[in-house]
Amino acid sequence: MKLATQIFLGFSVVIGISLTDSYVNYNLSQKVNRNTDYVAKSETIIRNSSRLHKSIIEMQSAFRGFLLTDDKAFLDSYHEGGRVIPKLFIEQRSLLLNSASQAAKLDTITKLHQEWIIYSNKLIEAKKSVKINPSLYVDLFENKLRKQVGKKINDRISLIFRAFDRAEYRLRESRRDALNHSVERTRTYSVIFLALTVFIGVLSTVYIVRLITRRIALMVNLADNISKGEFAVVKDDKNDELTSLSVSLNSMSETLDKNIKELEKRNKELNQFAYVVSHDLKAPIRGIYNVTQWIEEDLGNEVSPQMRNYLNIIPDRIKRMEDLIHGLLDYARISREKPLREKVDVNTLVKDIAELIIPEDFKIQTFGLPVLITEKIRLEQVFSNLISNAVKYSKSDVAGEIVIRCREVNQFYEFSIRDNGIGIEPQFHSKIFEIFQTLREKNAKESTGIGLAIVKKIIDDQHCTIGVESELGKGSTFVFTWPKH
Ligand code: ADP
Repeated sequence: MKLATQIFLGFSVVIGISLTDSYVNYNLSQKVNRNTDYVAKSETIIRNSSRLHKSIIEMQSAFRGFLLTDDKAFLDSYHEGGRVIPKLFIEQRSLLLNSASQAAKLDTITKLHQEWIIYSNKLIEAKKSVKINPSLYVDLFENKLRKQVGKKINDRISLIFRAFDRAEYRLRESRRDALNHSVERTRTYSVIFLALTVFIGVLSTVYIVRLITRRIALMVNLADNISKGEFAVVKDDKNDELTSLSVSLNSMSETLDKNIKELEKRNKELNQFAYVVSHDLKAPIRGIYNVTQWIEEDLGNEVSPQMRNYLNIIPDRIKRMEDLIHGLLDYARISREKPLREKVDVNTLVKDIAELIIPEDFKIQTFGLPVLITEKIRLEQVFSNLISNAVKYSKSDVAGEIVIRCREVNQFYEFSIRDNGIGIEPQFHSKIFEIFQTLREKNAKESTGIGLAIVKKIIDDQHCTIGVESELGKGSTFVFTWPKH
């Protein structure tokens, strides 16, 4: 699966859980709101119920007070009840739309109250007109009041009110329980979803980071190995973007490996060719030299001055040719033979070379030269070529000076050989390391243009570098690195 798809999936799962969390929480909060409303409504119903019951009782008391005392002041309170109570019934009824059993109880109370109103109104009217029509009051008193018709109605009203209140209290309790339960559930679900979101978020992040970093580390390692010349490949079968990168790296590594092997093969063939050719050229050149000697001997004094002049040039040219061939052989030998590694004191090595090469009027100074285990012959070839060049290209009118220093740079030694010779123009700084490149006159003695090419080849074989810092007339400093181990 593609890396982008995996990252997208990880995020989608986390976002999905968050959305579900929000949805569930929204639903639960709606439920909490509903239950809160129920509880609040129940409290209002209970409050209204006691107000209603109290008003009915007050009305009944006013009615009794009037009948007992004939004091019309009681009727004010009675009529006040007659005005307030119907409103309270309507208000209470509107709160009971969702509760049929409580509504039925209220309806019964309403009906009983109306019954009582008819009964009480008749008695009040009869009492008021007792002087005009005493028989009516007596009749009502005997048949209704005495027989406790009103009291019975009131008792039933009180009974139903108690039942109503009990039921409403139970209802309120159950709604309060439901409210607590939904609050509890909201809290639990929130914690579960939060934990799930964090868990899956962290899990997918760790998974993706591990998936990427481990494989990137493998590829960095491969690139490192390629830079060291080890052409391995990495295995990656995940089939995502990083797999494409590793496929490209692998194919780069394989191509480089193939090309370098091909190059090494060609180099070997070229070396072999140079070696064979230069070796085979030695005999015919010697032959030409012998033939000129014989001609000179046979002709003796008959040789014209012009001819003698020509014959004198031949040995010089043959010597130069031999030098070139020897140089070529040395050059070809570098990669053919692997010299022994041994302990080398560079100070002693330089001193020995100086004794052989440097004229007496030359001054040589060395600083910080190390002792190391290395291919002694190769290091010797490098120093002898560079020191002999410093001598060869010294100024004729100035006392020669050579300073050799060394410093450590990571796993390499960096040597510098500075002279106060004729110097080299900047445009030739890289050219002089090419084979047969000499800045001297082509036929000059001891100048084949091979010395620095040999030095460069040896240093390349050690996977090191060489360069020169110089200006014409201001001396030269050759700087090269050499492995410590
Ligand atoms: P050769 O000395 O046989 O010409 P090299 O390969 O040793 O061949 O040197 C190539 C050229 O680099 C020389 O011809 C010379 O011009 C220049 N060169 C090398 N070393 C020095 C030096 N120390 N000072 C000035 N020129 C130098």
